[in-house]
Amino acid sequence: MNQELLTNARVRVANDRPVNTRGEYVLYWPQMFRRLHANHALDCALRLAAEYKKPLVVYEGLKLNYPWASARHHTFILQGMRDNAGAAKKLGVAYWPFVETPGENGHGLVNRLAAHAVCVVTDDYPAYIVPAHNRALAAKSTVPVILVDGNSVVPLTRLGAPVAAAAHLRPRIHKLFAEEWLLRAAHIPDVPKVAKSKLDPPFRAWNPKQDIAKFVASLPIDRSVPPVPGAEGGSVAGHAVLDTFVNEKLPNYAEGRNEPNDPAHNAASGLSPYLHYGHLSIQEVAEAVLGEEWSVKEINPKTRNKDDFFCRDANVNSFLDEAITWRDVGYHWHFARNSARDTNGESSLDVSWCAHPKTDMPLFNFETMDFSPGGERTLDVVLPTWAQTTLRKHERDRREYLYDLEELEAAATHDDLWNAAQRELIATGRIHNYLRMLWGKKVLEWSESPAAAYRVLEYLNNKYALDGRDPNSYTGVLWCFGLFDRPWPPERPVFGSVRYMSSGNTAKKFDLDGYYEYVDRVAPRS
Ligand SMILES: Cc1cc2nc3c(=O)[nH]c(=O)nc-3n(C[C@H](O)[C@H](O)[C@H](O)COP(=O)(O)OP(=O)(O)OC[C@H]3O[C@@H](n4cnc5c(N)ncnc54)[C@H](O)[C@@H]3O)c2cc1C
Repeated sequence: MNQELLTNARVRVANDRPVNTRGEYVLYWPQMFRRLHANHALDCALRLAAEYKKPLVVYEGLKLNYPWASARHHTFILQGMRDNAGAAKKLGVAYWPFVETPGENGHGLVNRLAAHAVCVVTDDYPAYIVPAHNRALAAKSTVPVILVDGNSVVPLTRLGAPVAAAAHLRPRIHKLFAEEWLLRAAHIPDVPKVAKSKLDPPFRAWNPKQDIAKFVASLPIDRSVPPVPGAEGGSVAGHAVLDTFVNEKLPNYAEGRNEPNDPAHNAASGLSPYLHYGHLSIQEVAEAVLGEEWSVKEINPKTRNKDDFFCRDANVNSFLDEAITWRDVGYHWHFARNSARDTNGESSLDVSWCAHPKTDMPLFNFETMDFSPGGERTLDVVLPTWAQTTLRKHERDRREYLYDLEELEAAATHDDLWNAAQRELIATGRIHNYLRMLWGKKVLEWSESPAAAYRVLEYLNNKYALDGRDPNSYTGVLWCFGLFDRPWPPERPVFGSVRYMSSGNTAKKFDLDGYYEYVDRVAPRS
């Protein structure tokens, strides 16, 4: 196999099987970066198709039994698959969409397709069910399984050891950004003639022209989490959201992002679902905000300030610090944990203080980096020592209010602002960013233990949020418990020295009338 490709910082070969030169095709399996443009894994698969003179097959699958499977997640993904079918047609490559139904089980399908491939290319995504998928495929496959890191602009392997704060990762990203910017994926992939084909799949392909709502309604998944009206998935809708952001919201981003309001009037981009499902790439989002005229010459490499690194526009810098630095913090943290797991580098655990009530909620297990049993020990495994110590010291503090999952899910607390944020989440699949922090902090305050609070937050965030089940879902939730933060004196009940937030202060800081009106409109009180 091409040496240049193998030494690329984005590429890892997950097993040591020989290339099957008699294979019928190069198989590309997008698991999380579900798009056919600006995609490093697709570029890699196309290079391999050219090298081995074989057609490319893009296999995109959707099962019924993924954690938190629901009409909401399914619809968003299927809308993306509909766009990908169109994109594949334009590129002239074979696109094999498979969507599991009770009558058509997808068990073992990727392995069967891999058996006829020259090699398999897939996403090196560091969280959710993907690392376990990749480990299983690499173990079973008779051909090379090639993992491509399309997570961000700078490949995660180049970012070094895990960090304790965004401030430590930022300079590493800044140092490599210009160099990696010049190695971006092709916006329109270069498809060699040999990669083009109309090969038919050996299974009944999902029909992207059908009525998606009707199809989803026929499936045995959680329909109590319905699709969000007006929040269309897919690259086409994602590009429209990106255009609106750049033209209408970016000029006010630095000041307006934190202001809780109707998303139509708020400066936040609303891009996280499209980034999460890979319908948009972070590279094209950065290209759009930097503008066509921008070049790496505008980078200010000497600055220590996050507000003037990329260019002189404070709004662009502020946005890219979230979309690049903060987003990468979550991806890199998971990636580093996976690497530690693969090399047996985990630290020993202190689990003495953690309550383990029985629950059937699927919990991500940070020791194994998947959903195998043991995920209830998360806080012991991941929090910095100071946060574990202070939360443990205050674990038995009296709670002024105590709510269980049912009450929290039903937005039935004494706190109107928290209830509004929860209602927004249920109805729209998003929570305004500032309120999302408050939302998480209050669950810590009102739960019987930090471990119980973590379980509730993981569950609610991943079940309802359109950007849930992401590396940043976990780092976002865990930030509420002190991850990537520092002690904030004075010590308080329950929180100890973990940063505290209050609804009263939020109400003093912002005019919330517009936000309440918006929530009452999209999620009327029951
Ligand atoms: C309790 C809690 C849970 C969270 N769960 C998720 C989640 O499930 N998925 C998710 O993508 N983010 C999560 N975040 C981070 C953040 O809230 C969202 O990324 C952001 O609100 C998405 O809205 P936006 O696209 O309009 O953001 P914008 O402000 O427009 O930012 C642009 C992009 O930058 C990235 N970004 C922005 N803020 C953050 C942040 N604080 N941390 C990491 N990346 C960031 C996102 O990719 C976002 O799309 C969570 C934060 C908290 C406190």
